[in-house]
Amino acid sequence: MAGVFKVPKPKNEPIIDYAPGTPEREKLLEELRKIRETRLEIPLIIGGKEVKTDDLGECRLPHDHGTVIGVYHRAGEEEVKAAIEAAMEAREKWMEMPWDHRLAIFLKAAELMSKKYRIYMDAVVMHVHSKNPFQAEIDVAELIDFWRFNAYYAWKIYGEQPEYSPTGTWNRMEYRPLEGFIFAVPPFNFISIGGNLPTAPAMMGNVVLWKPSRTVVYSNYIVMKILMEAGLPAGVINFVVGNSRMIGDIVFKDPNFAGVHFTGSTAVFKGMWKAIGENIDRYRTYPRIVGETGGKDFVFVHSSAKVPETVTAIIRGAFEYQGQKCSAVSRAYIPESLWEPIWEMMERELNTIKMGPVDDLSNFVNAVIDGSAFKSIVRYIEEAKKAEEAEVIYGGNYDDSRGYFIEPTVIRAYDPKYVTMVEEIFGPVLTVYVYEDEKYEETLKLCDETSPYGLTGAVFATDREAIVKAERILRHAAGNFYINDKPTGAIVGQQPFGGSRASGTNDKAGSWLNLIRWVTPRTIKENFLPPEDYRYPFLGE
Ligand code: NAD
Repeated sequence: MAGVFKVPKPKNEPIIDYAPGTPEREKLLEELRKIRETRLEIPLIIGGKEVKTDDLGECRLPHDHGTVIGVYHRAGEEEVKAAIEAAMEAREKWMEMPWDHRLAIFLKAAELMSKKYRIYMDAVVMHVHSKNPFQAEIDVAELIDFWRFNAYYAWKIYGEQPEYSPTGTWNRMEYRPLEGFIFAVPPFNFISIGGNLPTAPAMMGNVVLWKPSRTVVYSNYIVMKILMEAGLPAGVINFVVGNSRMIGDIVFKDPNFAGVHFTGSTAVFKGMWKAIGENIDRYRTYPRIVGETGGKDFVFVHSSAKVPETVTAIIRGAFEYQGQKCSAVSRAYIPESLWEPIWEMMERELNTIKMGPVDDLSNFVNAVIDGSAFKSIVRYIEEAKKAEEAEVIYGGNYDDSRGYFIEPTVIRAYDPKYVTMVEEIFGPVLTVYVYEDEKYEETLKLCDETSPYGLTGAVFATDREAIVKAERILRHAAGNFYINDKPTGAIVGQQPFGGSRASGTNDKAGSWLNLIRWVTPRTIKENFLPPEDYRYPFLGE
């Protein structure tokens, strides 16, 4: 086929609002009911085939942990090795497939997700991740965006060619996939990340072993099925659920390991990096290590900020999806002069928030993901109740009898380095620190130095000088910095996402910066009339 094809320029997927009276809302409620009432059996997918081991795990609803909606088969060592083999077998053909056909598979998957499976997928994400319809919908739409925008960026990368070829030569650049397989390890909190981590490297011609997070195997499996329906060839992506440590051990010792695409906690990522370092002599190629990790994201309020805008951003940023976003607001710096009006409005608004299971669409807040997350969040709350340097000023109640429910909780810290101002909690817990208005710059520096992370942050101010100062002093405090906006909800193609420091390698998911990590370019120079004599003119008599 001859032609320099163009990938269609994407637009962000529009959001379904599920407002009362709409047919989409009725369909959503019906899908939610059906998912609750059936039990899905989830095999491993190795080399395009379903593999069952009968070592079973259960998929339970976070907001109703007595309800089992699926069982999944866990891989043992044998299946992990088989998955690596299947990937390596598929590699040659996948690499040779014309790039336009390769990308077409993901564009088709985006269409299937956008039309045929949209409402079903929203319902799956609501139940499996415990999200309200809006949170589920922006998550699913983000995955569609990832597929469409990444296809577009891949094409842009392929078009990036050497600037110049002097007469008689032709310089070209080939963007080869890495020599080996990629290990994709997503977190529980977003289906968009679940689907993006294995597919971004695959789009660039790589083969992948995808290990989803234990709590959300169900939703990740549906994405795998959609990719297969879209025509993903057998073995290109292998879906392997199981003990993370065991899988990691096998993967990191394999000579064909060529890269890891990780999103999750800082501690797990550091462990991977160490394992890769220890095994470095085994590999054929230096592996690419891409990881987006934790955050301790802030809202910094200047005395010139507008109260309703600030409060709305803090509430949405801190408590949407129960604070289980890497970008969630978990510390806020508030000037003394605004503390009273801000707190008065915040308390009033928080009192209107309803918490409960996802099938009741009036709930804004749902459950946290599982029992161990519940325990770890509750521990921070209980410690704060006893602490002298801090006080729980809102919420602080929790109940795991039916689902893992934790009330939106606000802690006021009197010590700006109190533990909940520093550590990632990953739950609906916000800590506020009230500072003296005249200590704005000093407190900005404090904000910069308080936590090891550097993911997201926001400044609220109307005074331009104050914004300039915040942008400068907080230069390395956030890879995604917001001015008068909440620091969550980055959109593919608009705000490429990621941070540095302990927050990751900052390879910006949803942009060419990420895709470029999954290729190893080959420069090709062709000489049309090569010289026939080694002597240069200076050697002349
Ligand atoms: P996690 O680190 O517990 O798990 C992430 C993944 O790693 C899961 O698939 C898990 O099974 C796997 N894993 C755990 N131990 C492993 C091991 N020893 N070897 C191999 N794999 C292992 O994180 P989580 O609880 O799923 O997600 C929450 C974390 O993710 C938070 O820290 C959050 O900030 C972070 N996160 C970051 C971003 C970002 O873009 N920076 C986005 C979403 C989530």
